[in-house]
Amino acid sequence: MPESARQSFERLFQVSRSTGHLMPPPAMYEWIRGYFGSIDAVETQTIVKVTNLATMEGALFNELRASRPMDARVSGDLLQAINESVGDPFCQPEQGTPADVFGRVRGEYSITASNIAKYDAFHGLVIFDQHNPLLFSEENIRDYLEVGYRWALEALQVDPAARYYFFMWNALWKSGASIIHGHAQVACTRDMHYARIEHLRRSALAYRQATGCDYFSDLVHAHEGLGLALRYEGATVMAHLTPTKEKEVLIITSGLGDPLPGAIYRVLDCLLHRLGASSFNLVIYMPPLAETAEDWSGFPHVTRVVDRGDPMSRTSDVGAMELYASPVISSDPFRVIEALQERFAESS
Ligand SMILES: [Zn+2]
Repeated sequence: MPESARQSFERLFQVSRSTGHLMPPPAMYEWIRGYFGSIDAVETQTIVKVTNLATMEGALFNELRASRPMDARVSGDLLQAINESVGDPFCQPEQGTPADVFGRVRGEYSITASNIAKYDAFHGLVIFDQHNPLLFSEENIRDYLEVGYRWALEALQVDPAARYYFFMWNALWKSGASIIHGHAQVACTRDMHYARIEHLRRSALAYRQATGCDYFSDLVHAHEGLGLALRYEGATVMAHLTPTKEKEVLIITSGLGDPLPGAIYRVLDCLLHRLGASSFNLVIYMPPLAETAEDWSGFPHVTRVVDRGDPMSRTSDVGAMELYASPVISSDPFRVIEALQERFAESS
């Protein structure tokens, strides 16, 4: 690793490695060989614990879990479930969903609605024309981002204090989406940004005060130094070292316009078609839409995308560790960046 990247890495991350041992009874040997390949593989296991010292995000990586094959594909059952839900309220949004007080924002491939059960005063939907939530193009994503942003500006007109805009996209029920039909959600909140985003702002500020260094630059340099980042037309795409759950990817840009739609499209395409994801969460953290009392200087647009596991599996990917301690991660960020590099090397 180059010296400056190593310094960034050491300022920001703590890594510890430990080894676990176990003694399986002979009666288990056959099952273990079938599932993990060999007895040796489970008898000694290396666990790597990574902690981001600025944000206190952490992750536990187990080599054994990471070595399991990653590939899976959208099963016939899943496609059938998606197709069977055609005809839902989002297929005819102007009849099936309420409008906001300022009406609807229309794009080329999407239209907004007011969320019927709100979690904030301004909480809307960007409903995609395309029913299947896993089918989209770069053009579609550009449209969804633009429509969401125009919705936020409408909300800001109605309530100039609702300055904190949040864009989120849950795809399929594993991610929390209650309706299968493709849609993103948008919210504008007041007084303070949502807790996680405000936490990141404060962490970055405290980091700058404590170290004299820019948090986001160090984050990028540390990932670059490890070979976990790539550049795409001014965007930085990283396989996150402390992922919130499987295969998390961060995209850092200076705004919502190009190159962000192209970067998001390629990341999602890679997750869905190379890394076996079919349910995901995507969010965009960004500075507020208007001046605020608190300091947002140097805060970029941070897009986070995470794989939420097989929609046909009944097991939740989030347990007590994820909710209350530290995420346990099966995917290896070095394999994630490899797949991303292959995807981004393609011409379109
Ligand atoms: Zn539909």
